[in-house]
This record gives sequence, C-alpha cells and structure tokens, in this order.
Amino acid sequence: MTHPKLATSKSGFGGRGYGIPGRTRISETTGKPLQLIYPSVTTVLKQVNKPAIAQWIADQTAAKAVMSIPYLMAVQEEVGWGSLRFFWSKSPDLVATELREHYLGVMNDAAELGTNIHEWGEADIDGLTEAPEANSVEAQEMIEAWIDWHSLHSVISHNQEFTCVNDTLGFAGTADADWSIRCDHGGEACLGQEPGQYVRTLVDFKSSRGTWNDHGYQIAALAAAEVVMREVTEIHPRAVKAQKTEKGEKVISWWVEDAPPAWERYALLHIRPDDLDTQGNQIPRFCLLKDRTEDMDLFRAGFEGALALTKVQAELNKRAKARGKETETE
Ligand SMILES: [Zn+2]
Repeated sequence: MTHPKLATSKSGFGGRGYGIPGRTRISETTGKPLQLIYPSVTTVLKQVNKPAIAQWIADQTAAKAVMSIPYLMAVQEEVGWGSLRFFWSKSPDLVATELREHYLGVMNDAAELGTNIHEWGEADIDGLTEAPEANSVEAQEMIEAWIDWHSLHSVISHNQEFTCVNDTLGFAGTADADWSIRCDHGGEACLGQEPGQYVRTLVDFKSSRGTWNDHGYQIAALAAAEVVMREVTEIHPRAVKAQKTEKGEKVISWWVEDAPPAWERYALLHIRPDDLDTQGNQIPRFCLLKDRTEDMDLFRAGFEGALALTKVQAELNKRAKARGKETETE
C-alpha cells in the first residue's frame, strides 16, 4: 500500500495520523507553532470491535491446533502456545503459496490481500498508469473478476488515493476513488441510476472475506470530508508546504485545499478471489458494487462514537504518562 505523504506513523492515538499543512497549535513552552496531528480513519476504527473477524481467528486457530496435535503433544506448553500465537500474527506469503491452504491462514482476512487490485483497476480505467504485476494466483483471479465488472460498467475517474480532512471533528483519512459510474448491464442498476445515467460516487475497495459495519463507518468518515487535499508544484500560487522526515530523509510536498465533490452515492467495491466457505463449499471469484448510501446517517454516528472513544483513550494515556513523570521527579 502507498503511504500518503501527509501521513505520520505516530499520532498519539495508537496508530497512524495525519499532519495537515496549516493546522498548528502554539506550544506552551516555546511559544512556537506546532503541527497538529489528526488520527487517521483507520486508527479510529481500530477501536471498533470486529466480532466476525474474532470468530474467524478463533476458527482458524482451532483448526490449526487440531492439525498440530502431534507437534503440540511433543513440545513444552509455552512453545506450543507461542507457535499457535505466531500462526495468527504472521503475514501470509501469497507468492510462495500456490495451494489453498486455508487452515494455514493464507486467506487471512486481516491481510492486505488486495494490495494491488485497486492500482490495477485505476490503471485499467485511465490507461495512463501501468498496471502492476499480478503477484499471486489470488490477485490474478481478482483482476479477472474486476474485468468482468468493468465490462458491464462505464467509469469516469475524477480522483484516486486522496486525503480527506475534517477539521471540525479533527481527523483525516485516505479515500480510494472518486468515480462517476454508469451501469451498462440490464436489470436493476447498482446505484439506483436511471438507464444511461452516471452517478458521482465515493468508492472504497474491499478485498476482505466479508463487508462489515466498520467498512460503512470508514466510508461515512471519508464522506464527511470538509476539505480534500491536492498535491501541486511549489510554484502554485496557493501552495502550502508539508514537511516530514521519513527514514532519515526530509520529504517536502506542496498542497492546496479543494472543497469535496458533491458525491451522490457511497459504495464499497468488494472484490474476492475463488474461496471456500467454512463448510468447504466453493465461493467463486466476484466483484460487486455495494451501495451504502442508505445507512450513511448511522455509519456517520458510529464513526463519531469511535472517534470520541479514540480521543478519550489518547487523553487518558497522556494523563497517565504525565503522572508517571511526576512520580519520577518526586
Ligand atoms: Zn451496475
């Protein structure tokens, strides 16, 4: 995944954050302006309980334990425990794994299975950027599912991988795609369009097994953008500077702020390779546009709840740290 230039790895909120140019506060000690860091949408949503993933992890770990009984009997308890823990935390190696070893956690929901399907889709639409290499059997299947979907839809891409900012609530995030979409297939239109009508849509790519409520919270957060950041060259008359240090190197970029587009619909593009369900039945590859517009009010409320919790927890941590320091100096 690309790392947006305005993102920082540490935010004080337990995950990635954003330093948006021009958002500062005055330091109490030096009197100089300090860059404000907003939590990222993803960091905020780490607060949300994901029962579907938790059950899946439990199922996979149980299956792994059953497969490993002889090994577990032969090693010390803490070694066996460590091995089962590692099994879940490891990253799947999609290139090296040609067989569908589901019990090995290969089709892991937490993993970035679709690292390049988004790039691939964008390259296919605009024809300007080069399509990335399909780096696994799964990626190839997802590309085929995408091609089928694209043959039934016309897409005009307005923007991709862009930073959305909400200063009122204090958060930022990266949206996947701003598209106008027309259905070229018969039957019911995916986004309730009239025949032949394009509809301006905020789209988020998903390649996890299922789509959950937190995917709705995520798209509602991005939809709540007050400002969309656009990277420009230094000579742009309204350009503001962003500066960060990454791996010891100074990264400078220039930005202007645009009003967000008037999106009419909000949708997930859910793309999956061939898979098996928990009973071992085949689930063929698919690419589906899932309209989430109807529940945006509740998704927005859910995100705001998670954001409030994120900020409370960060503040509690800060206080605990400050108290720790007081104790040290006493
Ligand atoms: Zn359609």
